[in-house]
Parts: sequence; structure tokens; C-alpha cells
Amino acid sequence: MRQRPVYDVAIIGSGAGGGMAAYVLTKAGARVVMLEAGPRWFASKDSKMLVPNYATPHRGASIHGRPFGEFDACDGGWEIDGEPYTKAPGTQFSWWRARMLGGRTNHWGRISLRFGPDDFRRKSLDGLGDDWPISYDDVKPYYDNVDQFIGLYGTNEGLRNAPDGIFMPPPKPRCHELLVKKASDKLNVTCIPARLSIITKPLNGRMACHYCGQCNRGCQVKANFSSGDVLIAPALETGKLTLITNAMAREVTVGADGLANGVSYIDKNTNTDEHVNAKVVVLAASAMETARLLLNSKSSQHPNGLANSSGVVGKYLTDTTGAGVSGHIPALEDHIPHNHDGVGGMHVYMPWWLDNSKLDFPRGYHIEVYGGAGQPGAGSGAGIQRLNGGGYGKQLKADYRKYYGASIGFDGRGEMIPNENSYCELDPTMVDRFGIPVLRFHWKFTDYEINQAKHMQETFRALIVAMGGTPSSPMPSRERNYGLADGGTIIHELGGARMGADPATSVVNANCQAHDVKNLFVADGAPFVSQADKNPTWTILALSWRTSEYIAQQRAAGAI
Ligand SMILES: Cc1cc2nc3c(=O)[nH]c(=O)nc-3n(C[C@H](O)[C@H](O)[C@H](O)COP(=O)(O)OP(=O)(O)OC[C@H]3O[C@@H](n4cnc5c(N)ncnc54)[C@H](O)[C@@H]3O)c2cc1C
Ligand code: SF4
Repeated sequence: MRQRPVYDVAIIGSGAGGGMAAYVLTKAGARVVMLEAGPRWFASKDSKMLVPNYATPHRGASIHGRPFGEFDACDGGWEIDGEPYTKAPGTQFSWWRARMLGGRTNHWGRISLRFGPDDFRRKSLDGLGDDWPISYDDVKPYYDNVDQFIGLYGTNEGLRNAPDGIFMPPPKPRCHELLVKKASDKLNVTCIPARLSIITKPLNGRMACHYCGQCNRGCQVKANFSSGDVLIAPALETGKLTLITNAMAREVTVGADGLANGVSYIDKNTNTDEHVNAKVVVLAASAMETARLLLNSKSSQHPNGLANSSGVVGKYLTDTTGAGVSGHIPALEDHIPHNHDGVGGMHVYMPWWLDNSKLDFPRGYHIEVYGGAGQPGAGSGAGIQRLNGGGYGKQLKADYRKYYGASIGFDGRGEMIPNENSYCELDPTMVDRFGIPVLRFHWKFTDYEINQAKHMQETFRALIVAMGGTPSSPMPSRERNYGLADGGTIIHELGGARMGADPATSVVNANCQAHDVKNLFVADGAPFVSQADKNPTWTILALSWRTSEYIAQQRAAGAI
């Protein structure tokens, strides 16, 4: 009988965290097997980057499985056929999942912000939430590695809690962004060049961005970051990575010693149960899917699920807070036709600029900006009757030209504080199409987040007025939480296997190594102790690099 190989490391998931672990570990010489629930997909080969909307069957509109548009580089969404989740009564929560090689890095916004020194020690500063067992200085060298290897644009500004990095030159602000900057200056809101993982100079065989603005379809020239092209392709080139796609992990298996010895999975091509053997297991299936895998990995040695002697698996979930406002800016009507080319994202943004001790909410937010007159997407110009009173024929066409590009939008992205009422657990009865128990979510925002959303609304409306414009919608009421987006809908879920020094109150240690199982590691957003007013992926990448380096050192020392 053929002996099944025993890999040095098995990684579950190929997104930001899994891709980075595969890259660092294969470069360190480990024989790695990666299980990915979705199919192979590389933007450089599979993207429809330059297909115009008019040449597509649905003119680029959303279709089933592609909620952000027909040619979005998206395999996944809020609902996945045969893979449900449930919500406790009263819970407003949506779970966005990718099912493809590279995970959500194929269609993320690429806003790449480091957490700042305060973000790792919030409890010490204001008594809320918990401190991380590591500091900014522990992660800084890995942020530097990620900046240099993956690349991003931005500028060094010397802001204390929005740390500088190793940036490529940013693209110039476009017309609407210059107006935003002017209004921000007027209101004393800090407005600086954005920080996006899009390269503006060639790097490691990848071409510089040519400003086609189609990042959400995946970049054929690899100028933006996706895990498939930037991390997994070089890992495959080492010859050390075995990639198994369409492989849905069911559970991490353990030996008689209680240590992890591999992963059982469903081969979705054949619907059969399979198993890979490994000396070390790295979970990187996305924060909540990782919690689900741990809870489902029950054994006589780990009856509450793997790494869950503390009972903390699935707890302290957070998502970024979000509220947004758009407005009409007459100064941008009938603009002189000019080049609006740019990246598929913003060229300026506003990091948190105020002191929370003087406000009625404890944590900050940053502001994302959208607008301009790039290639129109499906549905562009909808609602024009609100501006021109309706019409048809030649006049309507002329009005579309007049108003196109005269809208501006602001989105606040803020910090939620972890609370006891936001968690996931296994649903007692429901299983997915593979027979795997699904997650049931509980979610609650507190006044901290609701007051923050009110401040976002007031600020964005003031910015629109300062630009000479009018907000497109009235201020949402307190009953509607001032427009605070439901949990999960900003798609920055973190927590579920939090880091800590005390095994009684945390799941993994400062190296993202399970307290209970020394050869089990977590490399996605699950170990995060807190959110920050920053998008999380740059920190997931930096921590995954740090954890993977630690695994390589521990293996070399014979400790795991
Ligand atoms: C539209 C959108 C915009 C975003 N914008 C930003 C942004 O601007 N900045 C930012 O920092 N973040 C952004 N994000 C979030 C960002 O994409 C995630 O933080 C990041 O991708 C998380 O990486 P991950 O490795 O934890 O998970 P993922 O990237 O989700 O990868 C997880 C992988 O695991 C696989 N998997 C799941 N379960 C299993 C299983 N049981 N077995 C095998 N494989 C499994 C999945 O198929 C997936 O490929 C955005 C996300 C979306 C969707
Ligand atoms: S805008 Fe730049 S990074 Fe985005 S798809 Fe086009 S070339 Fe690639």
C-alpha cells in the first residue's frame, strides 16, 4: 500500500493569512500542503480586467455569486449555496465569505494601514477591552517586510498612531479629491494621500499600476496585491507547496498525545472524505471559519473543541464600524473633460484626527472617500430624477453627462470594542451540505459604536456642505443607530481565537500558537485582541509572517 506523505505543515485557507504562511514557510524549506475550499484562480490569468461593461450579458450588474458585479473577482458573497449560518433572535449580522484561491484578497479594497502603538494597548489607555500581549514594536519589523515585499503607496506623515511605512509614491489626487482636501483643511480634518497595496513602481517582476481603475476585477499585471499571484505563486515555484483546491476542511485531527496530526477534508470534486497528515497545522480559513473549525474539532482529549479549554473560542468578535453619506456637489457638474485615470480606489483619506477623551465615544474612525468620473459601473446615474426632476431623450442624455462625476461619498471605518454579547457558537441542529455543523451568530453594538456613527454622519455632512454641496439623504435617526452598518457588513470580522498571555482567558499566545496544542497555530484575523480604526489585512499579513518565522525557528530547534 502507498504510504501517505506526512507534510511538515498543513495550512487551511489561502487568503491573506494562509498565503503569507505558505510563502514564508516554503521559503524556509518546509514541505507544506495547503487546503483551499474554492477553485484555483489567479488574477494574472483569470481576471476580466479590461472587458467593458457593455460587452457583458448583464452590463456588469450583480449576479448570483458575484454581489459586487458580474466581473468582480469574487467567488463568494453574503450567501453561499449549501453553506448556511444562523443568527440568534434579534441579531443583525451578515457573514461574507470567499470560496476561491486567494480568498477575499481577490476583491478587497486594498486599503493597507498599520495598527498604531495605541491600538495594541487600549485597555491601559482607557480601561476598555483588552491589551494585546505584544506591542507595535514587536510587529513593526514584519510590517516593514510586508511593505517591501508586497508594496503599497502612501506618504510618511509622522502621525503618532497612524504609523509611517516604506511607501511607493502615491498617485496624484483627482479633481474631486482636491475639493475634499480643501474642505477637510477648512474643517481641520487631517486629509493625506491614501495607503493602498497597489504598486506605482515595478517590484519583484510585477508591473507598476497603469491606472485602469479596475482593481475589483483582479489585476492582470499583478500591480495590486492578491494572495494568489503575490504569495502563492512564488511559494509554488519553490517546489515545496502542494496545493489542494476544492478541499473543504472538516476538522483538525489529533493523535493520542492530543497534538494535531493532520486535517480531514471533503474533496468537493468527488464528495469523498480525505485526510492529510502534518506535523504542524496552521489555521487561516478567515477569523470566524477558524473558530468554527476549532469548535468542530472535538475529541476525547479536547471535548469542548480544539484549543478551547478556556471556552474563549468564538468569543470577542468584532467588525469595523461603518456609516456613510453621499452628496451632490454642483462645483463638479459639467466638468471640463480631463483625465480621471487612477487606481481602483481612493487617492486620499483621512486618518483619525481627534482626541476621544473630549468626545462621547471612546474610539476613532478613519474616512474613506469615493467619487470621480472613472468608467461608469452598472446602475450609474440611477436616481437622476432627484437632480433634474426626470426627463427623457436628448435632454436626459445631456443631464447624465452634466451630473456624472458630481457625486461624492464618505465612509467612516471605525473601531468597535469587543463585548460579551458578540460571539459565535455551533448551531445545535443545522449542518451544511457537507454535514459540518454551522455557526450561529450573536451580535450587539453598544452606545460606544452608535455615538461614533452619529459623529461620522455629522462630520460627512459638514464636509459635503463645506464643498458647497447637499447630502443625498437625511440624517438617520437614533432608532436607526445613525446609519451604523450591521455587524459583518464591513467585512473586517476579527477575533474568535484571541491572543493573550493567560491560557484561562485566551486561545493563542503571543506567537499565535494554541496554548493547549503546541503544534497548532492561527494565521488569520482570529487572534486579534481588538479592532483598530484601521482595516485589518496589513496586520494579518504582518502577524502571519511573524508566526510563520516562529514556526520555522521552532521546527529547526526540534520543539514542534
Ligand atoms: C469587498 C471587500 C473589501 C475589503 N476591503 C479591505 C480593505 O480595503 N483593507 C483591508 O485591510 N481589508 C479589506 N477587506 C478584508 C480582507 O479581504 C480580509 O481582511 C482578508 O482577506 C482576510 O484574510 P484571511 O486570510 O483571514 O481570510 P480570507 O482572505 O477570507 O481567506 C480565507 C480562505 O480560506 C478558505 N476557507 C474557508 N473555510 C475553509 C475550509 N473549511 N477549508 C478550506 N478552506 C477554507 C476560503 O475559501 C478563503 O479562500 C475587504 C474584504 C472585502 C470582501
Ligand atoms: S488600477 Fe492599477 S492595480 Fe488596479 S487593476 Fe488597473 S493596473 Fe491593476
